[in-house]
Amino acid sequence: MPSKPRNYSQSPLKTLSAKSRNTLPNMNQPILKVENLRAGIEGKEILKGINLTVMPGEVHAIMGPNGSGKSTFSSVLAGDPRFTVLGGTATLAGTDLLDLPPETRSHAGLFLSFQYPVEIPGVTMVNFMRAAINAKRKYLDEEPLSAAEFLKLMRQKRAIVELDNKLASRSVNEGFSGGEKKRNEIFQMAMLEPKLSILDETDSGLDIDALRIVAGGVNKLRTDRNATIVITHYQRLLDYIKPDFVHILYKGRIVHSGGPELALELEEKGYDWIKEQVGE
Ligand code: ADP
Ligand code: MG
Repeated sequence: MPSKPRNYSQSPLKTLSAKSRNTLPNMNQPILKVENLRAGIEGKEILKGINLTVMPGEVHAIMGPNGSGKSTFSSVLAGDPRFTVLGGTATLAGTDLLDLPPETRSHAGLFLSFQYPVEIPGVTMVNFMRAAINAKRKYLDEEPLSAAEFLKLMRQKRAIVELDNKLASRSVNEGFSGGEKKRNEIFQMAMLEPKLSILDETDSGLDIDALRIVAGGVNKLRTDRNATIVITHYQRLLDYIKPDFVHILYKGRIVHSGGPELALELEEKGYDWIKEQVGE
């Protein structure tokens, strides 16, 4: 029987699964919308009502003194079970995040780069990434990638952060330097093509060359359909990753928001004026 002729004029949209189609961002819909989010750990309230809207194409920086709740905010969005949500909502491109297990949040397009990336001895980067990619494809009702397709994707994405092939064949982060771990985080982000990437102090422990490579990777991955939240204590990273908005988190609340100039103001004046202004 002759095979059916392939219809090459078919729009690429039609070849996507129903779930992929549904997850294509609508440019008027926020990538992230957080309303009055409160969360705590061990009976202590840490996030005391966070409001944040991130639109497609935007980069937001969250700054603030140590202990303000920056990592708690990213952990709660990612679904870290150590934290308890006490109130409020968080949606990712219209999907309610807070009821989903962490892996489903990831499949739905959320990526969190850890302040302290974990080592996973015995699991090679290649196998780890293949499992992650194919789990996401399964969630989207897509076929797993063939070995050849997968390796091609690895090669393309490794180039973005100049990650050595040798590192990709080693156990995840095991014995990696600080800079290599952070580059590896951005490599994973490149592979997963998230809608929203949250980088929690990706700059900590990086020398200037590693910082440039990591920031360059983040910039290459920016599109008008995804968004990035950069959490940082210092303005230095923001010389390389230009934010559209800067928010100051202090004692579990966003106490001040502004443009990129706010980061420079913080660099100059430190955080004391914020503490005085908030009056605590
Ligand atoms: P930041 O990232 O802004 O430095 P964190 O979110 O790490 O701040 O911490 C905010 C507050 O939550 C701090 O007072 C910290 O002590 C507390 N906290 C964070 N993680 C834990 C934990 N696992 N157990 C108890 N308290 C925690
Ligand atoms: Mg932190």
